[in-house]
Amino acid sequence: MFRNTSKVNRFRNFALILVFLGIGIMYLALLFRTHPWVSVILMIIGFLFVLLSSGVYLWVGMLSVKVVQVICPNCGNPTKVLGRVDLCMSCNEPLTLDPELEGKPFDKKYNRNPYKSVARKKD
Ligand SMILES: [Zn+2]
Repeated sequence: MFRNTSKVNRFRNFALILVFLGIGIMYLALLFRTHPWVSVILMIIGFLFVLLSSGVYLWVGMLSVKVVQVICPNCGNPTKVLGRVDLCMSCNEPLTLDPELEGKPFDKKYNRNPYKSVARKKD
C-alpha cells in the first residue's frame, strides 16, 4: 500500500489511516466511561490524531500547488509528479521531469538533498 504508489497517494493514505485511528481511539474512550480520566485522555489522543490528519491533508493540498500535471506516456492518463522522480498514479510507471534521469531506473534517492542541490546549482 505504501511502497509502490505515487507520493500524493501515499500522503492521502497516511491521512486516511490517521482519521481511522483517531476515530478508533475516540470509540475506545466511550468504552471507558466508568473511568473518566482514561476516557478523557483517550478522547484527547483521538482528537489529536484527527487534527494531525487534517494537517496532513492541508500539507498535501499545499504540495499539490508545486506538483506538475503530466500525461503518463505509459497509460495515457493525467497524473501528478512531485519532486524529480515519481510514480504514475494510475499505472505506477516511473516518471521524471529531469531529462538527465530519463531512461534510468527509478530511484527515490534522486529526490534527496545532494541531488536536489546539484540541480539547483545548475540553475
Ligand atoms: Zn500511467
